[in-house]
Amino acid sequence: MKHVRVAVVGAGVVGLSTAVCIAEALPHCSVTLLAEKFSPDTTSDGAAGILWPVTFPDIPLERQRSWLKDSFDHLLAIAQSQHSPEAGVMLSSGWTIFKEVPANKKPHFSDLVIGFRNMTDNEMKRFPDHKFGHAFTTLKCECSSYLLWLEKRFRKAGGQVEKRKVNNLQELSDSYDIIVNCSGLGSKTLVGDSEVYPVRGQVLKVEAPWLKHFIRDGDGKTYIYPGIHSVTIGGTRQEDDWRLEVDKGDTQGILERCSQLEPSLSKAKVLSEWVGLRPSRKCPRVEREVVRLQGRSVPVVHNYGHGAWGVTLAWGTAQDALGLVRQCLHEMKLQAKL
Ligand code: FAD
Repeated sequence: MKHVRVAVVGAGVVGLSTAVCIAEALPHCSVTLLAEKFSPDTTSDGAAGILWPVTFPDIPLERQRSWLKDSFDHLLAIAQSQHSPEAGVMLSSGWTIFKEVPANKKPHFSDLVIGFRNMTDNEMKRFPDHKFGHAFTTLKCECSSYLLWLEKRFRKAGGQVEKRKVNNLQELSDSYDIIVNCSGLGSKTLVGDSEVYPVRGQVLKVEAPWLKHFIRDGDGKTYIYPGIHSVTIGGTRQEDDWRLEVDKGDTQGILERCSQLEPSLSKAKVLSEWVGLRPSRKCPRVEREVVRLQGRSVPVVHNYGHGAWGVTLAWGTAQDALGLVRQCLHEMKLQAKL
């Protein structure tokens, strides 16, 4: 089948990853990436960018592990290649520490990250308010670099890019055969999904080049992630809060909580403050449906709702979305034969 026209809506880490996967795997499709905002203005740009495992309630664990493994392997290959500096992807080692010993001391992802182990008593002495910890190596992206690198890779695979707000899917039904929706929080209005909601997050970038290891509190609210150019410290998780302005009270709280974990941070210079809205949902929506648009049946593949784990899961869910696009093509071929 020649020249199937695919539109991917959204140029955050999920849309770009999905567009790259489709354009590289299906050269007989013409793929166009449509988005209202591109880097550096997406939520993905400001994410701390650490690959951090998660478990969603209603998705089979094996599928989630495969999302995580695909993403981990993809980013690890970049981190260990000559692309690492341009893509801004690096290995990151450190500790996640708990005030109470967790019920499950060995989480499901322990075999997916590198060198997972429980922290020793000696290591724990550094964190007197905490009782238990995990040490392991994961990956971290400088997201703006990574997004630009993905966009370049997409264009190299023949992909087209268009800056445009899509008000509804009908607008696309004449020009495209398959629509892939990676619009994040935009899905609330674009496809009327009332299950999507924002979780506001504020982070600071500070100058602290002496810090080399990540430190994350087990509650996920306080973290210190050294990157290539600066250290990202956070954070906040404010559900249904749409404010995009920096909150000085949050800044103060972040500095205090992080300095409690790592006292040397009280000496660090604050370089920038940033707020983003995580496109949250009970579980990410990675599925296909057929939608009736202007009298035509148009296959739509959804890939959105990654919440606080878009960088972590983007490549894995993009591979799933590619599989769903293949299924759409297969059905279109069958229909053409009828
Ligand atoms: P976005 O980046 O929001 O992109 C959505 C795209 O869709 C944009 O291009 C937008 O313009 C476009 N769009 C929307 N509606 C329309 C429309 N109608 N027409 C055209 N275009 C449209 N995740 C991690 O894995 N690790 C982390 O360490 C991490 N840290 C974070 C820290 C903070 C403070 C925050 C806020 C988030 C963090 N996240 C992290 C979460 C991560 O940022 C998100 O999960 C991820 O950015 C979601 O990517 P996305 O592509 O779905 O959405």
